[in-house]
Amino acid sequence: MSDPTPNRRIAIADLRYASEMPAIPAHPSAPTGHVADRLHRPLHDLRISVTDRCNFRCSYCMPREVFDKDYVFLPQSSLLSFEEITRLARLFVAHGVRKIRLTGGEPLLRKNIEVLITMLAELRTPQGQPLDITLTTNGSLLAKKAQALKDAGLRRVTVSLDGLDDTVFRRMNDVDFPVADVLHGIEVAQNVGLAPLKVNMVVKRGTNDHEIVPMARHFRGTGSVLRFIEYMDVGATNGWRMDEVLPSAQVVERIAQHFALQPLEASEPGETAQRWRYADGQGEIGVISSVTQAFCGSCNRARLSTEGKLFLCLFASQGHDLRALLRGAYSDEQIAGAIGLIWQQRSDRYSQLRASGSAAAGERRVEMSYIGG
Ligand code: SF4
Repeated sequence: MSDPTPNRRIAIADLRYASEMPAIPAHPSAPTGHVADRLHRPLHDLRISVTDRCNFRCSYCMPREVFDKDYVFLPQSSLLSFEEITRLARLFVAHGVRKIRLTGGEPLLRKNIEVLITMLAELRTPQGQPLDITLTTNGSLLAKKAQALKDAGLRRVTVSLDGLDDTVFRRMNDVDFPVADVLHGIEVAQNVGLAPLKVNMVVKRGTNDHEIVPMARHFRGTGSVLRFIEYMDVGATNGWRMDEVLPSAQVVERIAQHFALQPLEASEPGETAQRWRYADGQGEIGVISSVTQAFCGSCNRARLSTEGKLFLCLFASQGHDLRALLRGAYSDEQIAGAIGLIWQQRSDRYSQLRASGSAAAGERRVEMSYIGG
């Protein structure tokens, strides 16, 4: 089933440099571990993009027409070093972060990422607890890296997989990468104990929605949790159209025609997925419905770009330049104070506004490949 009409792709104006210099509180107070934003949402999850590069060209995230051979990726010198990432992570943990997700681009392309994982795994909450460290990958390098990631302290992993049919999968990653290699990576990751392993499928109506039931059938009973993500209008380059969104309710309906499902409670505050279990005990699935069932009300996620810009929403159009503070000889107290101030002033809720038709039109949103999904 081919992509009906090639959507108009828009070359991105370089948003990577649109960021504010954070304000430093005159008398920064020590983080309390409970900072909350204007909608009373805590700061619990930090997503850290460790590279803006990827070896796939998924059309909903990094369309080849835009991220082509002439696209200029960030120079190494502008990326946060592992020491800088770890220093920032420690300050976010003091504000309440308990979960760190490493993303990209494709995070396994970042050289020696195991070293960063070891550094992050040594961090402790104010109560002395280890953090929940996870990573989202396209699985292309997972078979090779899984053991080293596990040994470094990674607890679990999420793999993006948009279909089982090799032709469909190769078309969606747009670099002709075989599905068998990703499935092998998943198997190796399970064998080394990166669990519970989650598999994320972005569903694009008319492109891969016919793969929903085969994917469910394949991952049932394997211990992996399959989640279906509604196709989103992230960034400004994927030519998003509402008629290519298959609402999660229809995804659940399609699966329920084959396997009886029962709703499950959220496993943690701010969880993005609605969970369903197979009535016959063969595991669970999830749906992530940013378009048709916005979950901004409990959104406790911050995103750090590859070169240290803090974004408060996946659909933000402006960041806050924490790298300037790191490289500007500010103290931990001052940087922690700045982070607290930024979060306290947060009121982002793009998906809710989109749903009510009052999202700001024409704003150039940051690319998902730059700040991680
Ligand atoms: S749209 Fe923004 S505020 Fe809403 S859930 Fe997504 S990241 Fe959070």
